[in-house]
Amino acid sequence: MKNFGYLIVACFVLSFTCTAFGEIVLPNVVGDPYEDDREYLTIEEFKVYVLPVQQGDFRGLTLAQLEDERLRAIRKVTAQLKLAVSVLPPDPINELRTRVVFHMDDTCESSGNEEIAGKNVKTGKVYYSPLASKNGIDRKLGQISIRCYSSFVHEFPYKGIVLHELAHAWQDLFLPNGLKNNKVKAQFEWSKECLHTQTSSYWKTSAVEFFAEMTCSYFFRSKQVPYTDMLMSGKNKTLVYLAWQDPPRLDEFTPSVGSCPNETELTSNPETKSSNFASHDHD
Ligand SMILES: [Zn+2]
Repeated sequence: MKNFGYLIVACFVLSFTCTAFGEIVLPNVVGDPYEDDREYLTIEEFKVYVLPVQQGDFRGLTLAQLEDERLRAIRKVTAQLKLAVSVLPPDPINELRTRVVFHMDDTCESSGNEEIAGKNVKTGKVYYSPLASKNGIDRKLGQISIRCYSSFVHEFPYKGIVLHELAHAWQDLFLPNGLKNNKVKAQFEWSKECLHTQTSSYWKTSAVEFFAEMTCSYFFRSKQVPYTDMLMSGKNKTLVYLAWQDPPRLDEFTPSVGSCPNETELTSNPETKSSNFASHDHD
């Protein structure tokens, strides 16, 4: 805890220094990503570690081209964070700013298909993970990792990736029992059984992905059904709405039980989005 405290203080001091002296190279980005020894930027008031590019690119790009990809990756994260900040309710966003760090690096992993493709194919990953604490402490933190600048820039067209990962962070850090929350799990089991049964959607893979994807559908849009809040069941809208209160109000939520109703009835009980929750006008 003590070490951790120092870390926070150190970060704060550095943060102040950046704010005071750092160059602003991109809108909403504080800090110069090309400054020597630069460790992190502040984007939309989130702390974002951006590591240097690795020498010796597998595609034969020059260092300048790799740096360009890194800058484009920063720009893309900035746009996605801006989107997430504009659609999510403000109090949870402020909570997340204090508990989530972003970590971007140029680690491109082998896809395992090199021989088939006849060339080096490398890929990246975007994922949320709880930050391990040394002392078993009171205050959990989380990290959103974005690996492989080239992959993030070229292979991830969906604009709600950061929003999706922030939903994992919110569930882990703020819902009772975090990623194992009982109500989310119960509602997932029922939804998987009863909703959109003719389609295979990513949210059906686990309760955790269910929560993240429903968050995206409700506040923005998801790549697969239900796409937006228009096609969400009333119960799932209520779940997302209550879960994103600060503090969350899931004690008021009763998961769906019993046999599956006719699917056309499911969207007739809307938990209308509060006007605080912003609009959907994003590209
Ligand atoms: Zn996910």
